[in-house]
Amino acid sequence: MLYDELAGLLFPHIDKTPEYYEEKYPARALPAGARVTRLGPSPTGFIHLGNLYMALANERLAHQSGGVFFLRIEDTDSRREVEGAAESLVASLDYYGIRFDEGASAEGESGAYGPYRQSRRAEIYQCFVKKLVAEGKAYPCFLTEEEIAAIRGEQEAKKLMPGIYGAWAKHRDLPPEEVCRRIEAGAPWVIRFRAGREVWLAGPDEAAEARFSIEDGIRGILTLPKNRMDVVILKTGGLPTYHFAHVADDHLMRTTHVIRGEEWISSLPVHVALFEAMGWTPPAYCHTTVLMKTDGGLKRKLSKRKDPELSLEYYRKEGYHPLAVREYLLTVSNSDFEEWRLANPGAPAWDFTFTTDKMGHSGILFDMDKLRDVSKETLLKIPASGLADFLTEWACHAGLPEAAHLQKDKAYLEKILDIGRNGEKPRKDLAFGAQILDFIRYFYDELFQIEDPWPENIPPGDIPRLLSGYLAAYSQADDRTAWFERIRVLAEENGYAAKPKDFKKNPERYKGHVGDVSTVIRIALTGRANSPDLWEIQQILGESRTKARLSARL
Ligand code: GLU
Repeated sequence: MLYDELAGLLFPHIDKTPEYYEEKYPARALPAGARVTRLGPSPTGFIHLGNLYMALANERLAHQSGGVFFLRIEDTDSRREVEGAAESLVASLDYYGIRFDEGASAEGESGAYGPYRQSRRAEIYQCFVKKLVAEGKAYPCFLTEEEIAAIRGEQEAKKLMPGIYGAWAKHRDLPPEEVCRRIEAGAPWVIRFRAGREVWLAGPDEAAEARFSIEDGIRGILTLPKNRMDVVILKTGGLPTYHFAHVADDHLMRTTHVIRGEEWISSLPVHVALFEAMGWTPPAYCHTTVLMKTDGGLKRKLSKRKDPELSLEYYRKEGYHPLAVREYLLTVSNSDFEEWRLANPGAPAWDFTFTTDKMGHSGILFDMDKLRDVSKETLLKIPASGLADFLTEWACHAGLPEAAHLQKDKAYLEKILDIGRNGEKPRKDLAFGAQILDFIRYFYDELFQIEDPWPENIPPGDIPRLLSGYLAAYSQADDRTAWFERIRVLAEENGYAAKPKDFKKNPERYKGHVGDVSTVIRIALTGRANSPDLWEIQQILGESRTKARLSARL
């Protein structure tokens, strides 16, 4: 039996030709140097930081070159599929400003290179697999799971490389009549790629002839053993494995750059061999590295089980501003980003030119402290009005009861968020929603409570006395100097030093100093021993709220 007869027997329903698809999906009309990239997530439901990291790199490469960035859902493994996973991924990435030009989306699909869900492309894959079979480059294999397990057992016992290859590929050269008989009898089959015999003849993996080199966009030249495996390219049921699916898709969708995880480096030889067998040029592969953290002084991979910060949801829940997360990811993604940022402090992050060769390849350290620092810098550049909107939206989205208070008066919230941000040395402590909310809750009567203890050195009876003295002297019209002068007078009248240095010189003469008196007032007004500038806080709280809080402690 000829190979093409076998191909016809295996795929009787495939009437399209490879040429048909080549014509249907022509080379894209894009300016020279434009890159076509994609995100190819499996819809498992768990959206992690790695998705965003990878999406950001792909998006930057495409959009800064005038190219195309598309979304392809890699759903050929239905066991791992979770309903609605693709939609939530699109929504999560959108939150961080990552937009696709074409592909799968919550509203359906757009673009001329679809379908963009692999499960809907079965016929396309089969057409090209049929071609490989017709050319003798792929063959049906009937090995059962038990037979494969037995082969693995034997290989383990002999300390041989596991897998279906060489003499272990028992159905590679089955007599044609036998193949025909099994297919007609309805025996289940998969299609395996027929690895070139010349690789075996070239000697062991280490032999120069058995190796090939390829340039990785991140890692430079990689030298790897050529493929020896007869890998499965089409599974029983007619859907492809990742190996074949991405080769066919990235060719037909005219992808120019593939940025993907380093776990795929070991299958790169298979992918390159498949591109060769198809007569296609592979895209530029760029293998990233894993995200790591330091834990007890040791670096380790971020883990789904142990590290909530691996989930993308975490950042939204905690209220990190999308621009801050983006900025931080760029910091860890491209080694020259920080330098660029120092030289261009006010520029939007998308003005930075992202390059794959500046991407790390030996474990990227993801450090929450650093994220917070970057976030503080980023928030400082956002005007109070934008910050107020962000905080309110975040609180609403998170379903927090505080949201209602924030929503009531935007001008009030703006003033609160702007405290100390506009001077020469602006305050840089606002980092993320949950923390900011905690900082500012005392501005809202419904959320205000006394949290810190009164200063220990102040006799309890002095507290109402100091507060009523302050209330009696209070004037909303005081400027900062006049205001503080009143506190000094109040301190002196009650046996406290008007200046800390007087107290230091003669501690036995005083109960404390003006700082302790301010602390008492601060606690009465904010509930806390530490806060931003008290005068400014009073200006924002307003006269009646300030006076009411003081009266409440008398
Ligand atoms: N579906 C693959 C994954 O989720 C995509 C790898 C790729 O981008 O090629 O790992």
